[in-house]
Amino acid sequence: MKLGCRLLLLVWLLATPTVIFRSASHSQAVSPSFDLVVINARVIDGSGNPWFRADVGVRDGRIVRIGRIAPSEARQTIDARGQILAPGFIDVHTHVESIYSLPAAENFVRMGVTTLVTGNCGSSTTNVGEFLGRTTKVPIAVNLATLIAHGSVRRQVVGLDDRAPTLDELKRMEDMVEQGMKDGAVGLSTGLIYVPGTYAKTDEIVALAKVAARYGGVYATHMRNEGDKVADAIRESIAIGEQAGLPVEISHFKISNKKLWGQSPMTLGLVRDARARGLQVTVDQYAYTASSTSLDSRLPSWLRAGGLTEAKKRLADQPTRQRVITEMKDNLKRSGFKDYDFAVVASYDPDRSFNGKSIAEITKLVRHKSDVANQIEQILAMYEAGGAGMIYHGMGEDDVKRIMQEPFTMIASDSGVRQQDESVPHPRGYGNNVRVLGHYVRELKLITLEDAIRKMTSLPAQTFGFPDRGLIKEGFAADFVIFDEKTIADRATYDHPHQFPLGISFVLVNGRTVLANDQLTSDRPGMALRGPGFLGA
Ligand SMILES: [Zn+2]
Repeated sequence: MKLGCRLLLLVWLLATPTVIFRSASHSQAVSPSFDLVVINARVIDGSGNPWFRADVGVRDGRIVRIGRIAPSEARQTIDARGQILAPGFIDVHTHVESIYSLPAAENFVRMGVTTLVTGNCGSSTTNVGEFLGRTTKVPIAVNLATLIAHGSVRRQVVGLDDRAPTLDELKRMEDMVEQGMKDGAVGLSTGLIYVPGTYAKTDEIVALAKVAARYGGVYATHMRNEGDKVADAIRESIAIGEQAGLPVEISHFKISNKKLWGQSPMTLGLVRDARARGLQVTVDQYAYTASSTSLDSRLPSWLRAGGLTEAKKRLADQPTRQRVITEMKDNLKRSGFKDYDFAVVASYDPDRSFNGKSIAEITKLVRHKSDVANQIEQILAMYEAGGAGMIYHGMGEDDVKRIMQEPFTMIASDSGVRQQDESVPHPRGYGNNVRVLGHYVRELKLITLEDAIRKMTSLPAQTFGFPDRGLIKEGFAADFVIFDEKTIADRATYDHPHQFPLGISFVLVNGRTVLANDQLTSDRPGMALRGPGFLGA
């Protein structure tokens, strides 16, 4: 390199905030001690401790030294230039059953996520061994773990019927959960608003949770109610944990009933009380005041028994249809919303022009009236046409903040792997972790940066049983995210969700770079992470 070029490069290096990535020359005589070293980092180690300055050396996918390291000792060097180096984020609440068709998992990687837990809300693969084993045939960018889901098991054994399982059926469900745990599931999940999970009574779930408990699993639940009966639902979740003897994770902890906004001290208090009694209960949360789920969650569960064909037959009967409408009106009233303006379509295949519009807006367009009765008819028509994915603007900001400040709350997206520009999904799939770091930490100073990182790393690892992840610590897996805490920001909005965040420059999974200087690499170093029941442990 000519002197002039070197000077120019030096000026550029001093001026730019970007992280520098370089490979040592091949002419080195001595073989390097590290595959990779990150120098000049401010390390936030995931424990909640304040940041410290260090270099971090990686060999064979593991952190082997934290301290002062000369770049000449490494095959590759990343100069963090004072940016933050944190453990890769662990997203414990995802729905990524489709990850093998989108193995880059770009929306997750670009918000710093290096490990996903899927199988949440009662819906998972029923063949955990095959699902996790596929990582060796179809390499993926991030690490993957799964829960075994009650709803999927029940569907296979009992179908979509609204009834209790027979003793024989319950035994078969227990066997399926046992097999899932032996194949490496990290616990049992439920989705008690969905068909068929909603038809299960508490004792059925306790029976299956006992199986998961025997294999060291956690009980992760999308509770029976997040609205007017949220306190009862929390009590049920806790009772299941106490009777079955396993830790409880309450998924996407929230209050979605407008009349109950401000009641999070009470709901968090129920969790604190259970912890005081000795039950391990934790919660996760996404950093938004809107939720996202299916349209049919607005409909009575008895209507949905047996699936859509059965439901359509019931709706064709006028008195039954009237009963559905009356129940929906009552539910709406109890939820504290005057109409369905808070309900926005994310994806509706029969007419994509509905995507991004509220039920109130769609009803006006289609029916030229927008009273509640017409809105309900519109919902029923869309349900009968196959249903829709929805976004519900149902939470209060004060509750979101209060839940975030609680020490046992972790940050999780509830997202799937996103396909760019497909439908108008919830922005959490592109921005969740980054929104916490940019908006709630830097702008609002609601929690410290170190505490926010703890909620995304060591707390999830501790809760879901990843003993060698979630901390920057010697011997731990080298899952890293490097970011500038002054510029990190989410860009995805409800109207334009398909936007990647700013401020994250590098993401490493098992010591290999999946994001380098803001560019996605083609590397796919993700591993299957199996729970303690694997191989009879
Ligand atoms: Zn859920």
